[in-house]
Amino acid sequence: MKCPYCGHLGDKVVDSRESREGEVIRRRRECLECGRRFTSYERIDEIPYMVVKKDGSRERFERLRFSRIEQEATGFS
Ligand SMILES: [Zn+2]
Repeated sequence: MKCPYCGHLGDKVVDSRESREGEVIRRRRECLECGRRFTSYERIDEIPYMVVKKDGSRERFERLRFSRIEQEATGFS
């Protein structure tokens, strides 16, 4: 991760802490070039988009896309 002070790309993680909900991880990093510390936040890139199918049931977009890929693969065999 790029250092906000000097722009150097090398750093080491000195501390990792998960939030109470487990959704965000906070990392204390130390720049290998200038030695200054900064914090990075990591969170899951969630896909909240839901697809409503013909029978009224809801399915996560992610799963739907996966099953479509499976169908395509079967078609080639
Ligand atoms: Zn630095």
